[in-house]
Amino acid sequence: MEIKKKDIRALTKEQLRNFFVEQGDKAFRGNQVYEWLWQKSAHDFDAMTNISKETRKMLEDNFVINHIRVDQMQRSSDGTIKNAVRLHDGLVVESVLIPTETRTTACVSSQVGCSLDCRFCATARLKRMRNLNPDEIYDQVVAIDNESRLYFDRPLSNIVFMGMGEPLMNYNNVLKAIDKITSPEGLGMSPKRIVVSTSGVPKIIKKMADEEVKFGLAVSLHSAIDEVRTSIMPFNATFPLKDLREALEYWYSKTKNRITYEYVVWKGINDTQEAADALVKFCKFAPSKVNIIEYNPIDNGEFQQAPNSAIEMYQNTLERNGITVTIRRSRGKDIDAACGQLANKS
Ligand code: SF4
Repeated sequence: MEIKKKDIRALTKEQLRNFFVEQGDKAFRGNQVYEWLWQKSAHDFDAMTNISKETRKMLEDNFVINHIRVDQMQRSSDGTIKNAVRLHDGLVVESVLIPTETRTTACVSSQVGCSLDCRFCATARLKRMRNLNPDEIYDQVVAIDNESRLYFDRPLSNIVFMGMGEPLMNYNNVLKAIDKITSPEGLGMSPKRIVVSTSGVPKIIKKMADEEVKFGLAVSLHSAIDEVRTSIMPFNATFPLKDLREALEYWYSKTKNRITYEYVVWKGINDTQEAADALVKFCKFAPSKVNIIEYNPIDNGEFQQAPNSAIEMYQNTLERNGITVTIRRSRGKDIDAACGQLANKS
């Protein structure tokens, strides 16, 4: 009978050190292997050249390294790169590298499919199959960091959790991945360069505030009117705006971090002055910033980008009320890598 080998990256550094002591080796060997697994992102035990052949064989007999594999990489005419990433069990997620003049941002996935059901989103059409493990999230970041060095001659500078899945529905694993990404024993990135983007799960936002996390928070709001929001993001019926606002107020009182709202303006859905006024009212309780994001239609259905006049109306209304607003043009449209388009089509 074949023995199921353990995923070695599920072990903490301490557990790895103890494993070596139990094998009659030195605890220090655990540090060496840990460094290979995380800082050096080794894909197999044979790459661990400062570990003896016998020890590598022993590791091979007991463990696996469930590294992701970039199955397909597509490059957009604007420089954006989309990776189709195969996981150890054959499932696929996508992650995106977005280059600008000064930054390279990785947009990473946190679930295979999504637990939520936003009606404008391509990922929502894939049912949630499972959460990603911390190492699968970490590996997506490493893959993009390597691509950034290779194609843009600079390391990755920022990370947004805005790919497939709702990160707060896989909170523990996302947190563990961020710990590794920010640890000097991992990638050593500053948490200030990481933003977790959520559709708004009030209980977890409060938990994050209590845990005093150091990364940024962005909320995909899209409407500050309950009726409208529920019609486009049905889970809003369970987590209404009142609860979201209360959680965000709590977040701000604890972290004093400005809140970013992601907002798409759709023709005939939220392109009215009344909708923009509701957004101003919602934003007012704490310092906030609104990113108005260009929409990429996923079909010819009811969700279509509003005309420029509606975007300008939003911009004027927000600025008049002292709220910072940026307009984000979409990137990577030609390879289905833009916001809301990730659906394993490649
Ligand atoms: S927008 Fe985000 S939370 Fe909503 S279904 Fe798509 S991936 Fe999930």
